[in-house]
Amino acid sequence: MNTHASPPVSHPYLTGAAKGHLIDGRMVPSRSRRTFATFNPATGEKLADLAEGSAEDVEHAVRSARQAFEGPWKSFTPYQRQALLVRVHDLIDRHFDELALLETLDMGAPLSRTKAFRSFLLQAALYYASQAVNTAGETLPNSLPGNFTTMSIKAPVGVIGGIIPWNGPLISQWWILGGALATGCTVVLKPAEDASLSVLRMVELLYEAGLPEGVVNVVTGYGAEAGDALARHPDVDRIAFTGSTETGRKIIEASTVNIKRLQLELGGKSPDVVFADADLDVAVPGAAMAVFNNSGQVCYAGSRLFVQRGIQAEFVERLAAFGKTLRVGNGLDPTVNLGPLISQKQLDRVLGYIDVATQEGASLAAGGNRLQGDLANGYFIEPTIFSGVGNGMRIAREEVFGPVVSVIPFDDAEDALRMANDTIYGLGGAVWTRDVSTALRMANGIKSGTVWVNCYGVVDPSVGFGGIRMSGYGNKGGPHHVDAFLYQKNVYINQG
Ligand code: NAD
Repeated sequence: MNTHASPPVSHPYLTGAAKGHLIDGRMVPSRSRRTFATFNPATGEKLADLAEGSAEDVEHAVRSARQAFEGPWKSFTPYQRQALLVRVHDLIDRHFDELALLETLDMGAPLSRTKAFRSFLLQAALYYASQAVNTAGETLPNSLPGNFTTMSIKAPVGVIGGIIPWNGPLISQWWILGGALATGCTVVLKPAEDASLSVLRMVELLYEAGLPEGVVNVVTGYGAEAGDALARHPDVDRIAFTGSTETGRKIIEASTVNIKRLQLELGGKSPDVVFADADLDVAVPGAAMAVFNNSGQVCYAGSRLFVQRGIQAEFVERLAAFGKTLRVGNGLDPTVNLGPLISQKQLDRVLGYIDVATQEGASLAAGGNRLQGDLANGYFIEPTIFSGVGNGMRIAREEVFGPVVSVIPFDDAEDALRMANDTIYGLGGAVWTRDVSTALRMANGIKSGTVWVNCYGVVDPSVGFGGIRMSGYGNKGGPHHVDAFLYQKNVYINQG
């Protein structure tokens, strides 16, 4: 493992006064005038002051979203919404480097990662543009006496509350914006308190593209106050949430106020299964990046790495060797592969799990330490590998959300499936093998919303992604995603 620090960098978006909420197309301070600071996790430097949202600000934003829903946005035709999304695509293209740099500064992911989001975002904008003119209802058969025509109409659900985490807001916000803009819904976004900047900037670009005032609003602030107020608000029709299972549970409770529709993408402890016949030249880096990517702060991280017993020793050795090639450091350096964790809280959590794993008897095969020296002001941690892990240990059961992988041996496909599915979660999963029957058996057998074969973590907006069990419900992306922003109205016409 190499380490690397970089000098501080300024950003055009970070000059000037505190950032406000974005309500009704304008930046406004909190009604309380309270602010909070957001920091660069690679250096500890303050980046900006942000408005600290309260229930009053959420009320303001929801009112604005409702007025836009019932007002100018309603008269936008599907083709106008499509044209708007195409203009947004062009603006993202033009401003992408600025957005990627902002994300790197705000949440630490290296430029090598945030810059790779370009094609995803551009595809997402075009995908949802295509969906804007494809939200048709149906003419339905009926057996009613007399002369009836029956059909379904698809209508927009209304005001969507989007609550998103810090681990990749540039992408996460699009799972809400895309569906809402395609269908004619309006939005109040509550980004995570640790990483709000790329959301504010993206929504400014939407307005530059010609979005009517109030269609998308952003309230920054803490989850327990602004997030809870949004989840509870009686005039919000649906919540799309990505974050921890614990918060997901609170959102379910809060949503009962008006029986909101919900889409929840929560935690995971995804199995990544390597068979002895796999191409190890592909499987070793693939399995390593399945968990080390974004320094492990990925909901579908392949953190339980099941390796067939015969190749376990060789695999762990090669995994550790690959880990040493990864450059950890300030992501402004384009050669850096892994950035910091988001915060001191997250660093403490990850180091705590490393201690627990050692106490439980797992063997530390690589890493395990916070990085010091030039990187001491940031929250950097070495890529960490535990071998000889039992599937019942806490390190194999609980979501760590850091660059820590547990290698667990297995004997055969049945053994691997039994352990892979012995979890409360069901988000991702993968199999590495040259045998097509084994690949299909595992793809069918792993209980999760997504399974990758001989790859990990690839996501396409037109295919989608989602979880089952305590990883939540509702797909993001794919043909049925847009449906979640619509409700079906059944129409019976008596023609006499
Ligand atoms: P979190 O669930 O606390 O935060 C996610 C979002 O929910 C943030 O915007 C936050 O402000 C908001 N929120 C928090 N409490 C809320 C409440 N009571 N009502 C409404 N909104 C609320 O997650 P976190 O603190 O950012 O991270 C903690 C853990 O969550 C991580 O360690 C990891 O296990 C998990 N996580 C999962 C994902 C994922 O993509 N599935 C992403 C981030 C974090």
